[in-house]
Amino acid sequence: ILQMKNIVKQFAGCMALDNVDFSMKKGETVAIIGPSGSGKSTLLRCINCLERITSGSITLNGDTFVDTKNGQKAVYLSDKQLKNICAETGMIFQHFNLFPHMTCLDNVCYAPIKVKKHSRKEAQERGRQLLDMVGLAHKADAYPAQLSGGQKQRVAIARGLAMNPEIMLFDEPTSALDPEITGEVLNVMRKLSKEHTTMVIVTHEMGFAREVADRVIFMDAGKIVEEGTAEEIFQSPKSDRLKEFLSSVL
Ligand code: ATP
Ligand code: MG
Repeated sequence: ILQMKNIVKQFAGCMALDNVDFSMKKGETVAIIGPSGSGKSTLLRCINCLERITSGSITLNGDTFVDTKNGQKAVYLSDKQLKNICAETGMIFQHFNLFPHMTCLDNVCYAPIKVKKHSRKEAQERGRQLLDMVGLAHKADAYPAQLSGGQKQRVAIARGLAMNPEIMLFDEPTSALDPEITGEVLNVMRKLSKEHTTMVIVTHEMGFAREVADRVIFMDAGKIVEEGTAEEIFQSPKSDRLKEFLSSVL
């Protein structure tokens, strides 16, 4: 459902993505691993157009929304197109970014009501189902400040799912959490992966990546250095760079 070709993203003096090809099938769980600064977050941010690519092409569900040929300027999207793309991807960040002045239920219902024009009743019904799915039905009326980090992140996941996105993007969703509570967030993600939610997870949790990912991608210095099944990547890494990385984190 997603194809990205020859993606280049340059920041002043820095090549964050250097000719990356990345695609996803419906229902697939892909994990992205790699050292700090290798371009993992940038890749996610380019998928949902939080960042505009310098060149390359991105096709989601058959619609090509950015396409540049070498030497040509990037085609910029209208605000309306950008909104559509954002609505099709749910992004979960390391820091939860919940609206502090809204209850958990309102956090989950906000975008469906505002962007998708769902009725309040319809949005709340679905919002309660999602909170139940992440094990937080009893916190519907609590405010984010009253929750633990793991609970906040689970509300953020419910909020992402509420838009029925084509793809869920997770950027180190557990790295700001205490080790004892990462498990509850990983459990929710494990459940989503089993239900064949299409998802990309940037993670430092190698055990988790190995367990849930249909495909693992190793990035270094803005490039995809190696990709394969979890077994191929973790049992028989080919490149020296990946071997070195694995020995430093495992
Ligand atoms: P980490 O594991 O630390 O989160 P990462 O793999 O997610 O790292 P990115 O955040 O994608 O790495 O960064 C890739 C490169 O792009 C880095 O060299 C970073 O300094 C640079 N970069 C990222 N965002 C910006 C920005 N807004 N402006 C300038 N440079 C940026
Ligand atoms: Mg990052």
